[in-house]
Order: sequence, then structure tokens, then C-alpha cells
Amino acid sequence: MTDVRNLIVIGGGPAGYTAALYAARANLEPLVIEGFNWGGQLMITSDVENYPGYADGVLGPSMMQDFRRQAERFGAEFVTDDVTKVDFSQRPFRVWVGEDEFRAESVIVATGASARQLGLDSERRLQGRGVSYCATCDAAFFRDKVVVVVGGGDSAMEEALFISRFASKVYLVHRREAFRASPIMVDRARANEKVELVLNKVVTEVIGDPSVTAVRLEDTATGEESVLEADGLFVAIGHDPNTALFVDQLDHEADTGYLVTRGRSTATNVEGVFAAGDVQDHVYRQAVTAAGSGCAAALDAERWLSEQRHAALAAAAS
Ligand code: NAP
Repeated sequence: MTDVRNLIVIGGGPAGYTAALYAARANLEPLVIEGFNWGGQLMITSDVENYPGYADGVLGPSMMQDFRRQAERFGAEFVTDDVTKVDFSQRPFRVWVGEDEFRAESVIVATGASARQLGLDSERRLQGRGVSYCATCDAAFFRDKVVVVVGGGDSAMEEALFISRFASKVYLVHRREAFRASPIMVDRARANEKVELVLNKVVTEVIGDPSVTAVRLEDTATGEESVLEADGLFVAIGHDPNTALFVDQLDHEADTGYLVTRGRSTATNVEGVFAAGDVQDHVYRQAVTAAGSGCAAALDAERWLSEQRHAALAAAAS
């Protein structure tokens, strides 16, 4: 059992570190339980060209190191492990990392979202053996190889373009003709001579033993099957919020699992618990909006803590 902290931040992405930075500068001495794989989704992103202040772009992992260092500079403390259980039913709130229990007056949940999988048995069997969810991590393994990327959003475009720096050929498989990705990203993919768009197709099986040699495709209009030879499959079909730990305690959207916050604030249905970043945002989902939301959560937590203290002092005086 540890002392009761002012604030625990759960999550080490743009939202969590920004919350920690603001909270640390407000003398809240936050504890950030940042996760074993800290850094969030930007650790699996290549060049970030749209984060203000980095005029020449920046690599995702190095940007997250900058975020973390900045929070640390003002006294944020870190536990580099995953939270395994929380109890928000009474105050102080309790947060566990295995057997270790941490307690705090307020909590900011900033656990982000995770890459979605196709849900195929063959996909699971070949994970790490040609099936990947992270171009930045794995693209270099596919130098002069043929790669399939699945998805029609900005992630799929970005991954296809990044992998094309290494691979000899990139098939971008999408289940429709229209793209969810921004037009500029689609234009870049179309203009890349290594990238070939394969539309109206879904991957129904990943083939290969011990590693990927091909994918089986099904035409979404005709049902016709075909086999596309490839050495790797990158799945880039979106993300799900990391809310499993919280869904029995915090209000969330029934269909998606994203946490629900009140109005323009970051307050959840539990007073003193706030949510920031992609765990509660399926609309904008950008590093800059996550960071802004982390800042808002720290300000909300700080104001809420200060109101609690004033109320306690007033009660003691009366
Ligand atoms: P997304 O926009 O949700 O796109 C997911 C794509 O995967 C969609 O095209 C979807 O098809 C497809 N898909 C989903 N499930 C599938 C399945 N089971 N089988 C086949 N295809 C499937 O996700 P995202 O691309 O990860 O982007 C998320 C957010 O981050 C977006 O707001 C995006 O703009 C942003 N982002 C920005 C950048 C950048 O600006 N540099 C980079 C990456 C991401 P349908 O279209 O048919 O639904």
C-alpha cells in the first residue's frame, strides 16, 4: 500500500504525457502508469508531418520520447508496466499493477486505442511470421519483398507508402472502391509506382508455413476467390479503444467501447475520474487532439482537486 497521490495518469501516449506535463507543472506530482509498451500508437507510426512545431516532421517514437522527457522534467514519475485492475467505486481510487496497489484522489484514463485485427485463425497463426500491424517496426524485414497492406484509411495509405521504401511491390487491398483516407494520402499512394490498389477485395485467409507466402482474396461484389502471392501482410484497418479495464465502472458507448465524457469536459460519470485522448475520441484521433485532450484532463483534475480541498476546509471550519 502506498501513499495517496493527488493524481494517477493511466497511459503513456500523447494524452497521458501531456496530462502528466500539465499536472506536474501544477505541483500535483502525478504518477504515470505508462504501460509496458509506452508511447502509444505513435511508436508504430513513421514520419509525423502534422504535429505543430515540428516543421520538418519527426519520427513518432522520437516525438514520444520528447513528450515523456518533458513531463519528467517537471517531476512526473513513471511506472513502466500495465495496469491490471482498477477500483473507482470509492475514494481514494485504487489502481493495481499486478500485486502492487496505488491510490489517488483523482485518475486520468488515457489508455488510447489498439490496432484492429482481421480475426482470421491463419492471421493469428502467422503473427510475427509475416503478419504485422506495425510498418515502422517491421517494414525493413521486407526489403525487396512483396507485401499486402489491408485497409482504406489514412493508416493503410501511410503504411503502404512507408513499406514501399523497402518492398519491391505493395498491394493495397481495400474492401470498397471509395477510400476513408484523406485525398492527399490516396493521391500519394496512387502516384507511387510500387503501390498497386486492389479494390473490392477482402482477405479471407493468410497462406504459408512457417511464414506468409500468399493471401486468399474474395471479391466483395462477385464472391470470386483469388490468391495473391506475398511475403508479408500488414493489417491497417483501424483501432479499438483500450477500455477493457474500465467498462464495468465507467460509462462507455455500447457499440464501440469508447469512454463517454461529459459535454466539453473530460469528466467521466465517476467524479474525480477523467478520460483523455483516443480512449474517448473516435472522431479526431490525432496526436495533437489527444495531447490537447490530455491538457484539458489535467486542468479538469486540478480544478476538481482544488474544489474538493476548498469544500473540505469549509466543512472543517463550520
Ligand atoms: P479508419 O479511418 O477507421 O480506416 C479503417 C479502414 O479499414 C477503413 O477503410 C475500413 O474499411 C477498413 N476496415 C475495417 N475493418 C476491416 C476489415 N475487417 N477488413 C477489411 N477492411 C477493414 O482507421 P485508420 O486508417 O487507422 O485511421 C484512424 C484515424 O487516424 C483517422 O482519423 C485518420 O485520419 C487518422 N490517421 C491520420 C494519419 C495522418 O494524417 N498522417 C495517419 C494515420 C491515421 P471501410 O472504409 O469500408 O469501413
